[in-house]
Amino acid sequence: GYHRVLEENRKLYNQVQDLKGNIRVYCRVRPFLGRQSNMTNTVDYIEEGTIAINTPPKYGKGRRSFNFNKVFGPSSTQGEVFEDTRPLIRSVLDGYNVCIFAYGQTGSGKTHTMSGPKDLTEDSQGVNYRALNDLFVLAEQRKGTLQYHVSVQMIEIYNEQVRDLLATEEIRNNSQNGFNVPDANLVHVSSTHDVIDLMNLGQRNRVVGATALNDRSSRSHSCLTVHIQGKDLTSGGVIRGCMHLVDLAGSERVDKSEVTGDRLKEAQHINKSLSALGDVISSLAQKNAHVPYRNSKLTQLLQDSLGGQAKTLMFVHISPELDAVGETLSTLKFAERVASVELGAARVNKDSSDVKDLKEQIANLKAALARKE
Ligand code: ADP
Ligand code: MG
Repeated sequence: GYHRVLEENRKLYNQVQDLKGNIRVYCRVRPFLGRQSNMTNTVDYIEEGTIAINTPPKYGKGRRSFNFNKVFGPSSTQGEVFEDTRPLIRSVLDGYNVCIFAYGQTGSGKTHTMSGPKDLTEDSQGVNYRALNDLFVLAEQRKGTLQYHVSVQMIEIYNEQVRDLLATEEIRNNSQNGFNVPDANLVHVSSTHDVIDLMNLGQRNRVVGATALNDRSSRSHSCLTVHIQGKDLTSGGVIRGCMHLVDLAGSERVDKSEVTGDRLKEAQHINKSLSALGDVISSLAQKNAHVPYRNSKLTQLLQDSLGGQAKTLMFVHISPELDAVGETLSTLKFAERVASVELGAARVNKDSSDVKDLKEQIANLKAALARKE
């Protein structure tokens, strides 16, 4: 009754708030993994939006805290993490461009958040599956007024080369023609089942190499891009939205004395593209007239999802172990730089009814509340 109305009201209010900001940073702390010897925790304190790291003497002994839009502790579930991502998914169907990406050192949980563990179950499905599932559910709910068409691309950026993960042959990247989404196969999907099949295909095509840290680590950025087109059945108008779901390559700095040849080349490319990402974001923060999107394939690809017209969510991942503390601090510093960006309100590709809808619903709930009193 009364409490439900209050709760609904609060939820809707949060959704409206959510629609205002266009860059959010969520931090997720991975739990300790089984049979680990070094169980000393560097994460001292977690609450809603704050995380503190105990730094050993080598990094200037003390306690350094960071603020983000949200911090998910080691016991957070895939469902809880997705719950706070939902409003963004909804906005794709309203014609916003959205970019969700996973940042962090190898082994910190990026793939876990975006896709899930290897032995995937429905409960352990990551953001990618849940996002697509939500899109289909919402599209179905709106089918009386809007007819949606959903298609996906899966690409990988490896050593600054873009590869189509949904093609059997490598495709040539067409970046010279000004398209920021590469000319990769665009596959129509009509159910979550279709998406799972495609993601399995894409996963098999990914470049995976072995490192000392994690034999499942990847040295490439992988990106699942979802294009939606919604035809308004009364007006005939078309809404277009696009969502990039990016699992970035590991952000760890590589000790150059230890790697040579291909491994060194990979490390340099990763370093280059992640710092290009940082440069783009800081350039946006300073409102520079020129934003250096073209300095890496990654930032070219994300161009329409980073900046004043799009909404971005970055999941930064950290490992709890003491020996990861150096990387943890540099990850959190990078993320802090991203989190401090404040851009203008996101703009919709076409007219959005979302904010109006929510405002109306809030007004209705308030009226319901008043009647109870
Ligand atoms: P990354 O993609 O950043 O290299 P992974 O996602 O592969 O890291 O995670 C490394 C290991 O830790 C995997 O075995 C993964 O299943 C596990 N893992 C990561 N995050 C979590 C989590 N939140 N809960 C349980 N296990 C996790
Ligand atoms: Mg991974």
